[in-house]
Amino acid sequence: MGQNEDLEEKKLLGSGGYVLAKLTEQEELRASLGVPQIFLANIDRLSEDRFTRYFCKKCSREYNGCPNIAYENPNEEIGNGIILIEKGEYQCKICNNIIAIYRKFNR
Ligand SMILES: [Zn+2]
Repeated sequence: MGQNEDLEEKKLLGSGGYVLAKLTEQEELRASLGVPQIFLANIDRLSEDRFTRYFCKKCSREYNGCPNIAYENPNEEIGNGIILIEKGEYQCKICNNIIAIYRKFNR
């Protein structure tokens, strides 16, 4: 069984809405932290082809496809050897409302 066969569509919550995206079982476990909800903020940047739909709270509607993904790679040490590798935002393509933010560290 290849990893691609394990992809399952899940709802991932953000502060400004939610997205529906296909996740592997490992990604799902990492993002859910043992609670039933899955948070977009707990997952590293997903490639655009993983998204099927997203919901924007500000527009109060669902859109097909992927939200905009804006990110930068500061590679900035924030103490105790922890480096902020990437920070990014998922934004509504129509109104730029932030659906969710995420941070990726070196551990
Ligand atoms: Zn919107």
